[in-house]
Amino acid sequence: MPWATYWRKPGGYSVITNQSGMPIAQDGRTIGAFAQHERHSFTCCHCNRVTWIESGQHQDIGRCTCCDDLICNQCIGKPCVPMEKAMGTYELRMRELDKRIEALQDKQTNIEERLRVLRETLRTG
Ligand SMILES: [Zn+2]
Ligand SMILES: [Zn+2]
Repeated sequence: MPWATYWRKPGGYSVITNQSGMPIAQDGRTIGAFAQHERHSFTCCHCNRVTWIESGQHQDIGRCTCCDDLICNQCIGKPCVPMEKAMGTYELRMRELDKRIEALQDKQTNIEERLRVLRETLRTG
């Protein structure tokens, strides 16, 4: 399983400062009075989902053993299909379809051209 405690590549960063004298609840955790709360985030290389990591505590973060990048909990154990790769496959398929459409259009033009010549021949002949 691609599990690792990983801190090297935080994609985002946010600090919440509690300026009140009372602990506050924020996004499911409590921030003490006059305390600061830091968070980092990373973007999953497979699905582009953003995952927040609480600062100061090491968390288990998924890491793809195939493309060696960070992945979110939802993508752990799933095959490596990075977003870019998936997009690449999609683009290749689109290009292939474009080529086929072009070929069909060429054929169509050819047929029309032949018909035109035939009609011309019938008229003049
Ligand atoms: Zn993911
Ligand atoms: Zn991967």
